[in-house]
Amino acid sequence: MSVTSNSRPLRMRTCAGCRERHPQSEMIRLRYVKDRMVIVRSGDGTAGRSIYLCPSEGCWHRALKRGRLIFKSAKRDRAVVHLDPREREQLLYRLKSYTREMGSPN
Ligand SMILES: [Zn+2]
Repeated sequence: MSVTSNSRPLRMRTCAGCRERHPQSEMIRLRYVKDRMVIVRSGDGTAGRSIYLCPSEGCWHRALKRGRLIFKSAKRDRAVVHLDPREREQLLYRLKSYTREMGSPN
């Protein structure tokens, strides 16, 4: 029997933009907590209402195109968030700065 440092199976998540499935660890997670959106590392935190996105601007634009984000939890609890154009711009800006930070080593 072999023991690896990461014995958990690779969790796959669907991107809200391109609808492709990727390993959770490679994705950006948006959580919806107490009526606000929080961008977290995909491995962080407990379950909750979330959206997963590729670290790619094209996916963010596709996900935000309709001005509506649907956050879902494993318990099928969901929250629909409507964004006006200004809020969309703000979220894109936050995603951009977040991925810039991700790119730098800890
Ligand atoms: Zn994507």
